[in-house]
Amino acid sequence: MTIQPCDGILDIRPYKPGAADAPGIENPVKLSSNENALGCSGKAAEAFRNSSGDLHIYPDGGATMLRETIAREEGLEADNIVCGCGSDELLQLLGRAYLNPGDKVVQSQYGFLVYRLVAMQSGCDIISAPEKGHRTDVDAVIEAAGDDAKIVFLANPNNPTGTYISDAEVRRLRDALPPTTLLVIDAAYAEFVREADYTAGLELARERDDVIVTRTFSKIHGLAAVRLGWAYAHQSIIDVLNRVRGPFNVNLPAIEAGTAAIQDRDFMKRSADHNEEWVAFLRQQIGGLGLEVTPSVCNFVLVHFPSEGEKTAAAADAYLTAKGLIVRPVVPYGLPNALRITVGSEAENRAVVDALQSFMKG
Ligand SMILES: *Cc1c(COP(=O)(O)O)cnc(C)c1O
Repeated sequence: MTIQPCDGILDIRPYKPGAADAPGIENPVKLSSNENALGCSGKAAEAFRNSSGDLHIYPDGGATMLRETIAREEGLEADNIVCGCGSDELLQLLGRAYLNPGDKVVQSQYGFLVYRLVAMQSGCDIISAPEKGHRTDVDAVIEAAGDDAKIVFLANPNNPTGTYISDAEVRRLRDALPPTTLLVIDAAYAEFVREADYTAGLELARERDDVIVTRTFSKIHGLAAVRLGWAYAHQSIIDVLNRVRGPFNVNLPAIEAGTAAIQDRDFMKRSADHNEEWVAFLRQQIGGLGLEVTPSVCNFVLVHFPSEGEKTAAAADAYLTAKGLIVRPVVPYGLPNALRITVGSEAENRAVVDALQSFMKG
């Protein structure tokens, strides 16, 4: 190869999305990517369709209508919001804008895989702070960050574990980090969380200039296909992101669908209600089979299998796939004995439990 990419790029293992097919099965059930079991808001779908008359026109590069709607719905300032092609793009842009090769980047042990990709793209290693009970350990993150981390990525709640840390713990973390460390709070599942001591961190981001919160339309809003996310931070950070993003990084159908979705409180509530009911069901039923289920505040559960014998995670995955139930192995996260299962419809959740029950008996 004559043309060489930048140092480190070829060390990156490309992100592998959740599987979408099961060999030989026509309509498998996809529970591998934490998509919304209820689909998306009908109003968002309608707004998406209505945008089709204007596809020849460039979108508003500043996504003003969308930012203003988010600001109104969330009680924020539109000028402190930037939108992206998925929150994924915003995470990538943070890496591009803030990481020099060799900078220290920190996450917790089972942090979302994208953080590693972001670090590596900028020629940085990522340090993973050990978790306790599959939950972020703030003291371990503080220790790993020391006084010279450039970015600390905190998924709160985290994927693939489904656990969260309280607002007080997030604040304790921020207070212990030096002002030269940017704390990135990825709150992709915030709208599902109903615990009283949880917040997405937006207040903290309003109070300080060293915190950014990222959010997504892919989960509670069920708009994973349109690729839309947003972030909220101090003006100085938003200004930097606006310099590195593409001039039209958010497309018109996404702007229209997102604007409708974030106002559809009824759909959001129904999604969160459905999730609360069925995440509890999955936890209780799967736990009842003798499998450990990490307590989850998200729209998925992490299920732990024996590391040896016939009931391993790999065997369970193969068994479920053969029945047309696609779940997510989490080997790349360093969790070879676990599977992540997204909350589906009632029938899908019951099918997963039934299949796991026969797997464990067989
Ligand atoms: C799903 C998810 C996202 C959302 O990514 P998009 O690019 O907005 O679809 C971000 N962070 C975590 C931890 C996730 O699980």
